[in-house]
Amino acid sequence: MKKIAILGSTGSIGTQALDVVQSNPDHFSVEVLTAHSNADLLIEQAKKFKPNAVVIGDESKYQIVKDALWIDDIKVYAGQEALEQIVESTEIELVLTALVGAAGLKPTVNAIQAGKTIALANKETLVVAGDLVTALAKSKAVNIYPVDSEHSAIFQCLAGEWHNPIEKIILTASGGPFRGKTKEFLSTVTKAQALKHPNWTMGAKITIDSASLMNKGLEVIEAKWLFNLKPSQIEVIVHPQSIIHSIVQFQDGSMKAQMGLPDMKLPIQYAMGYPNRLPSDFPRFDFTKYPQLTFEQPDTSTFRCLSLAFEAMERGGNMPCIMNAANEIAVAKFLNDEIGFLEIPDMIEKAMNTIDYVATPTLDDYIATDFAARECAVAL
Ligand code: NDP
Ligand code: MG
Repeated sequence: MKKIAILGSTGSIGTQALDVVQSNPDHFSVEVLTAHSNADLLIEQAKKFKPNAVVIGDESKYQIVKDALWIDDIKVYAGQEALEQIVESTEIELVLTALVGAAGLKPTVNAIQAGKTIALANKETLVVAGDLVTALAKSKAVNIYPVDSEHSAIFQCLAGEWHNPIEKIILTASGGPFRGKTKEFLSTVTKAQALKHPNWTMGAKITIDSASLMNKGLEVIEAKWLFNLKPSQIEVIVHPQSIIHSIVQFQDGSMKAQMGLPDMKLPIQYAMGYPNRLPSDFPRFDFTKYPQLTFEQPDTSTFRCLSLAFEAMERGGNMPCIMNAANEIAVAKFLNDEIGFLEIPDMIEKAMNTIDYVATPTLDDYIATDFAARECAVAL
């Protein structure tokens, strides 16, 4: 029985992780659940899964959650600091980081410091401070298991191959709702159009990132840190059917790919259950229903976010952190109808050219960079 904390239990990944727990009551028990402001769902989840404690980020919702859960004898905390500290609770064995954005950095660092195994969905943490986070995990002998489907695919392909060097990896991308469209078309798209992903149902921020291809850019950087790769070893290919979730090529030229229907429950369950594959009744892939699996080059001149991410990765230091913070602000502005879709890469590029570069940042430098890049992007 693994005792888990789910940070961001009310989100797309969080709710699917709870489905996995519900289907495997002999394998997982819930120790901690956290949400940002969705008090109603957090209360409902807590009453069902009976965690030891919950954290609500929005302090104004504390009393509502407290009043609802006192009868169940569940501890209730509120605020960012509580979120950062709760991961250290002795009972927790595995922390699933399913919260969105750079807000995941400090809780993840604290969880690693406390020796907790990490199931990492929150890719922004590795984009912002991948060098520090992976070095800390190594020094604490903490494993980070990927939840992101592409990285889970690579991780699954590497089973039994850890002694064999990787020649390159190829991350697949669906291409999102605007695949094949021109800049002219993108200049007028609405958030409703951008929120309609062809293959995956996800939270709003990652859905916009998928439409702009920034999601793939974040994933390229995430892969660099998870699998200790050079930028030149990472490629992206557009595969609109999202059946092949990613590919590893070894030094003998052999390629291994992992495939299946697009369903995040599978990589979530794999990360939570590792090293065991638990039985599931998830829908099975049928070759006859997919007579064609197709592949094409990503259009990085129309979808500039992907080339900005490669550039940020090459420049290193705090550059990916600047890019990520500016992207978070730009996406929030787009979702608020304040800017157009094509202004997202413009804002990111301006922030990358404005904020001071730091070659070997400390954790405090990353936090300061994140803050400065947000201020810069807000003002643009
Ligand atoms: P959602 O927006 O659906 O959920 C985010 C969760 O985090 C919610 O529980 C939310 O609480 C909480 N949250 C939001 N902001 C904060 C904050 N500032 N501090 C603490 N908690 C916060 O996101 P997703 O589940 O889609 O994505 C979560 C992470 O997983 C992201 O990093 C994403 O890139 C990654 N990921 C997601 C995939 C997917 O299929 N959804 C696939 C691969 C990776 P509340 O509900 O109260 O707002
Ligand atoms: Mg992904």
